[in-house]
Formats: sequence, structure tokens, C-alpha cells
Amino acid sequence: MVPFAYQAARSEQEAMDGALAGGRYIAGGTTLIDLMREEVERPQRLIDINRLPLRAIDLRADRLVIGALARMADVAAHPAVVQAHPLIAEALVEGASPQLRNMASIGGNLLQRVRCQYFRTLDAPCNKRQPGSGCAAIGGINTTHAILGTSDHCVATHPSDLAVALVALEASVVTRGPGGERRFPVEELYRPPGDTPHLEHTLLPGELIVAVEVPRGGHARRARYLKVRDRASYEFALTSAAVALDVDGGVVRGARIAAGGVGTKPWRLRASEALLVGQRADGAAWARAADRAVEGARPLSGNGYKVRLLRQTIIRALEMAGDIA
Ligand code: SF4
Repeated sequence: MVPFAYQAARSEQEAMDGALAGGRYIAGGTTLIDLMREEVERPQRLIDINRLPLRAIDLRADRLVIGALARMADVAAHPAVVQAHPLIAEALVEGASPQLRNMASIGGNLLQRVRCQYFRTLDAPCNKRQPGSGCAAIGGINTTHAILGTSDHCVATHPSDLAVALVALEASVVTRGPGGERRFPVEELYRPPGDTPHLEHTLLPGELIVAVEVPRGGHARRARYLKVRDRASYEFALTSAAVALDVDGGVVRGARIAAGGVGTKPWRLRASEALLVGQRADGAAWARAADRAVEGARPLSGNGYKVRLLRQTIIRALEMAGDIA
């Protein structure tokens, strides 16, 4: 590990000043410390933000507010989350391991780095780690990589389960930075790789995620997260689907679907959602929505199986959500 300076911030202003001076925020450290050990990340200064009062979980009449420093395990077990948005609890419990969930923060979860093996191998070409060096995954081992939103410069999937659930629920991130407070959809936090895969998010210099806000509504009750992976726990998704349905009298009034494990960012499936509205909530409708979801997929040499697997994952998740009484 390369030596670094450490600073525990006592206020948001102090944290931002440190970040603007070249420091990196650290909360749970479950991604960053790993990458520093492997020397993929070499920050000169860490700004520890754990003392900031950003851990509250607050259920309001119109939304659930989750502080950015709340830990994954605490959020998953919180009665307000389980009551208002069980989809979030379900997605959190499907991620990482119990030890990691005790440490990892909500803000850090949203900003975790990709799991591409070449990103973590210093002598492999990787445009994300070293812009302009190439992408070893495109002609290499790419069985776990993306089929949606890829470019000729990067094909890594976004690894967060939570982000997939939040995109489906049309959640927002609340940030504070040198320019003041901002609030924007979680979906807009992420950049597609394009020809700049080293730029992963839309945060401004020094900007800090302070909370996530999730609107309450008719979709929350019939919502499920389904994750398909190589082993039962402590594993990233091959495919996943977050589904939230508003069904009345056996007819779909509204649908939200997002996919994980397949996109370079959490992947909202609006065309599939639109197909469902006004349809009977049955297997034929689920199959049509799933067919639409995989249109435009661009499989690589080793991940063609993900097209079929994603289709099946969406159908099963819709069945599960539709079966909720
Ligand atoms: Fe790097 Fe992205 Fe290619 Fe992986 S897929 S090697 S992260 S550029």
C-alpha cells in the first residue's frame, strides 16, 4: 500500500475543503481499502467522514430518507425501511457478506467500483484504471461483463444491488458541495462508459452524498428483488431484477423495472414498463416485457448466456411481485 495522510473531518465544510485539496472521502472503506492494498487506487490523503451526522433513517409522509452514512445492515433491518420499501431491504441483504454489510455505508455502496478482474490487475490494459490503455476484457475473459450500455472502451458491469432497487423506485440522491445542495435521480448519478470510462459518476469536485430519498407510493407493496449468481451469498449478480408493480383488479396500472449485473450502470427498462401498463397481470404480459428488455443487448464472446438469463430473471421477478397479495 502506498503511504497516505489521514484526516478525520469534524464538519461537512472541513470534509469538502479536504476533498477540494485532493483528498478522497472514506466511510466504511470496504471498496477503497481493498483497492489501495492492490495499489489500483493511490490516494495521497483520506478524508474520514464517519463523524458527520449522516446516519439517520427517517420515514416521512411522502418519502423515506436514508442518511448516506447509515450502514447497509442497519438500513436492511430498520422497521421503517422494511415497512415502506421492503425492496430496499431485500436488495441490501442480497449484497456482500454480513461483515461487509456492517461496515459499508449507503453512499459508499452507490459509488463502489467495478469488479472487472482486469481493473484490479495492474499489468492488464484497462481504460478505466489507465485511460487510453485499452480494454483487456473485450478480447479476454468476459463471462461476467455487461450486455447493455457497453462501449468499445469498457464493458464492466455496475456492481451495486442497492442502486438497481433505488433506480426502480425512482429514488433521488441528495448531495452537498461547494455550490450548495443538489437533489437528482439516482439514475443520473451514473455515466455510461462511452469513451471516458474512467469518469463513472456525475458528482462535482468536493461534492458529498448526504442522503438518499425514496418516494412512497403504490408501487412499494408489490416489489421484489431477484438476484441470480454463481453461489448463494457473498457474490455479485450475474443478472438481477428489481420490480415494482401497481396492480388493480388484475390489471397493471404501473410498473417499474430495473436490471443489474447486465448493464454498465443500473439499467432501467422503461420500454418493458410501458408494455405492461393496461395489461392483465399474467405470464404472457411478463414474457412480452422480458422480450423487450433484452432487445438491443450486445453480448460479448463469453456472456451470451446473460441474454436468456436476464429474460428469465425478469419473468420470475414479475411473477414474484405479481403474486404478492
Ligand atoms: Fe477496464 Fe472496463 Fe475493460 Fe474492465 S471492462 S478492463 S474495467 S476498461
